[in-house]
Parts: sequence; structure tokens; C-alpha cells
Amino acid sequence: MSFYFAAEKTLGKLAKWLRLLGFDTSFESEISSDKFFEHLQPERILLTRTKWVRENYSSHRHIFIESNNPRDQLKQVIRELGICQNETRPFSRCLSCNVEITEVPKNAVYGKVPDYIWETNDVFQTCPTCKRNYWPGSHTKRSMQQIEELFK
Ligand SMILES: [Zn+2]
Repeated sequence: MSFYFAAEKTLGKLAKWLRLLGFDTSFESEISSDKFFEHLQPERILLTRTKWVRENYSSHRHIFIESNNPRDQLKQVIRELGICQNETRPFSRCLSCNVEITEVPKNAVYGKVPDYIWETNDVFQTCPTCKRNYWPGSHTKRSMQQIEELFK
């Protein structure tokens, strides 16, 4: 089962984390409030911390986020939806653009990433929209541990 999210503007860090886990997550601040709410797709679960939004969009599937802490927010979403770790696809999506990143040949990123990164990695991925390059670096290891802890 796949989940799609729409995060209101107060939930930027939560939105990034959901993208990091591979979930398609639209984010109010990247669109514009009018469009965000007007074009709220029915399959998207609305994530909000705002009572006004909860009251006005109560018929839309939503989760009212309780905590200020992004990590606890993420835990709440995982808990309420019963998301299992094997339903996630970590590092498959651009954190800025919310599109799936694609694996590219190593030679394609030569000169576009720092030399030592190019020399020490064999797997590279690129965002088709913003052209940002991704590779499994130390940041990924730390994030991976954080993900493991989420599903303990
Ligand atoms: Zn991108």
C-alpha cells in the first residue's frame, strides 16, 4: 500500500522526512496556499497542525499533528497509518522537488560532484527536475540509522 501526503506550511521538516522515506509529499510552501488547498488531491492525506484547517477540511482524510518536534510528528504519522519499514523506499525521491531520482552512470556526474566523492562512490542518482546529484554518503548512513530507530 502506498501513501500520498500533503503537508501544510508549518510542517516543512516533516515533509522532507516523508520524501526521504520515499513518499510523494506535496508541501504548501512550495505551491501557494490557495492552490495547495484548491487542488488537494483526494488520495493525499492532509497533514496539519492548524485547527482552522482541520475544521474546514474535516471531510478530507487528514492527520492532526500534535507535536512540535519533527521526529515525533513523523512517528505519529507512521503510527496512525501503521506504515511498515518495508513500505518505505528511502533515498528514492528528491527532497526539494518531490520527484523520483534516477540512477545515472558514474561518468555522467564526473566534474559535477566533488572529486573525492566521485572517486569513493560507484552509485549516483540525479533528480530529473533540479539536476541535483545524490550518492550514498555519510549523511545517508546517519539517516539510515534514524530510519531504523523509527520502526523499532
Ligand atoms: Zn530535485
